[in-house]
Amino acid sequence: MAQFNMANRTVLISGGGISGPALAFWLKAGGFQPTLIEQAPRLRTGGYVIDFWGLGYWIAAKMGLEADINHVGYHVREMCIVNDSGKRVAGFGTDVFGELTNNRYVTLGRSDLSRLLFEKIKDTTEVLFDNEIIDLDQQAEGVRVRLKNGGERAFDLVIGADGLHSGVRRLAFGPRQQFERKLGYAVAAFEAQGYRPRDDDVYLMYGLPGRMLGRFTLHRNRTLFLFVFTVGDGALPTALDEQKEMLRKKYADGGWECPRILEELGHTEELYFDSVSQIRMNNWSKGRIALTGDAAFCVSLLAGQGSALAMISAYVLAGELMKAEGRHHEAFLSYEALLRDYIQAKQRGAKRFATALAPRTQLGLLFRNLVTKAFAVPGLAHLAIGKEITDAVQLPDYRWRLPIG
Ligand SMILES: Cc1cc2nc3c(=O)[nH]c(=O)nc-3n(C[C@H](O)[C@H](O)[C@H](O)COP(=O)(O)OP(=O)(O)OC[C@H]3O[C@@H](n4cnc5c(N)ncnc54)[C@H](O)[C@@H]3O)c2cc1C
Repeated sequence: MAQFNMANRTVLISGGGISGPALAFWLKAGGFQPTLIEQAPRLRTGGYVIDFWGLGYWIAAKMGLEADINHVGYHVREMCIVNDSGKRVAGFGTDVFGELTNNRYVTLGRSDLSRLLFEKIKDTTEVLFDNEIIDLDQQAEGVRVRLKNGGERAFDLVIGADGLHSGVRRLAFGPRQQFERKLGYAVAAFEAQGYRPRDDDVYLMYGLPGRMLGRFTLHRNRTLFLFVFTVGDGALPTALDEQKEMLRKKYADGGWECPRILEELGHTEELYFDSVSQIRMNNWSKGRIALTGDAAFCVSLLAGQGSALAMISAYVLAGELMKAEGRHHEAFLSYEALLRDYIQAKQRGAKRFATALAPRTQLGLLFRNLVTKAFAVPGLAHLAIGKEITDAVQLPDYRWRLPIG
């Protein structure tokens, strides 16, 4: 392996979701030696689907993943809002997304993207599954970490890419509550096998005041269900049974396919359930420790771009570290300077969108449906979506030390 003249070569990355493996890939390309540590015993499967375009897509393509993400992904034709009896009441064709992105727009399982990124690094990066950092001690020359499964190790730098509930953020910066801004919603998602009907490449949404339920047909005879609903400030249930019970109560009066979907819910053992929150921090680094992706600045699902931002932050952090030849103070500052305004704008946009996804009143639902209908008017969708979909930041095209692809 080539040796480069630089400080801080060894980097421990906590989190094997989106940002973690992307960071390992680009650090490697920059001549660093990353190690990845993931809390789960294996890569997480299932979950939910994400829309993926713009700079995130561009980075994935640079990693040689364009064909793969389009192969495992979906090209949604239509967004359709249905009423109690399943009749379409509003919606629009999604050609507009393709037109605005040069057809570089795909919907894919978050776990599929995570797996594809991981496959890019698994043979060249040390990976520790079923393990996590339980203590961090920053010293002048590096960081000593204590691991859950025993033992201590030393690294030059530690990066938290461990999501909304980041352990590195907690250990280095303080409890999540200091940085979390709850947006007043919770989200739940699960998959079922053999559900009927199937509507290929159509995203179906059903709304009740303060609640939305989405259905999306997946490959291999599977269907994904997504719930977004208003909640108070209190803690959400953590036990599977209690989470199911909360959903049953919330959607008990629902029409459309609600009763059948709630029945399917009863059979699932894998339910994604979390608060819809943002993370807002004054700094994304402290000494030799930095954060990327949701750990640093979760924009929430309402921004519809968190995975792309997770990849963008990984790419920029690795690029700036390489450019600064490993001098972390310099690199962490420029990483933040390049991205902070852009990400804050995404966070503001996500807050605005919350009311569109699950309006709190019957009138709000009506208004949302009218606006969605208007999207079918030629030109209007371009106008309305164009600004949201365009990335208002330009990424450096770094000259990586090692070949990529
Ligand atoms: C319902 C929903 C829909 C979404 N839709 C979209 C969309 O359309 N488009 C889009 O771009 N984004 C979307 N997002 C957001 C996107 O999924 C996230 O922003 C993205 O996954 C963030 O990537 P990450 O790598 O920062 O964190 P994560 O993907 O959350 O990965 C974090 C990883 O860290 C691991 N971990 C956690 N704690 C520890 C620890 N203590 N030690 C070690 N490992 C740990 C976790 O197991 C996980 O593997 C959506 C999110 C949700 C919930």
